[in-house]
Parts: sequence; structure tokens; C-alpha cells
Amino acid sequence: MSTGPAGWRPSVAEPHDTGGESVCWLPQVCEDCGRLADDEPPTVCAACGASIDVP
Ligand SMILES: [Zn+2]
Repeated sequence: MSTGPAGWRPSVAEPHDTGGESVCWLPQVCEDCGRLADDEPPTVCAACGASIDVP
């Protein structure tokens, strides 16, 4: 029997954050008037009518 490299591990220690809580509200803010959009982007600002797209 051949013993392989048992203690070998690839160095892929990425901190995978699986916390899907509240996302940043910034993409939902109108750039023209600063109003927070009612709907998720892509949408239009209810105040000034500017288009709010997803980044
Ligand atoms: Zn606006």
C-alpha cells in the first residue's frame, strides 16, 4: 500500500460568508435627488423619475 500525502491541503482558505442578511441600500438610492426607491432596481425614482439601475 502506498501512503499518499495525507496532510496535503490546497491553500484555498477563503472566508466564505454565507450571511445573507440585509444588503446595502446604496444601489436603491436615487443619484439625482437621494430618495430611496420603493422598489428594487432596476426601477425609476418616484420623486424625480430618474432611472435607477442595478450596478
Ligand atoms: Zn430621484
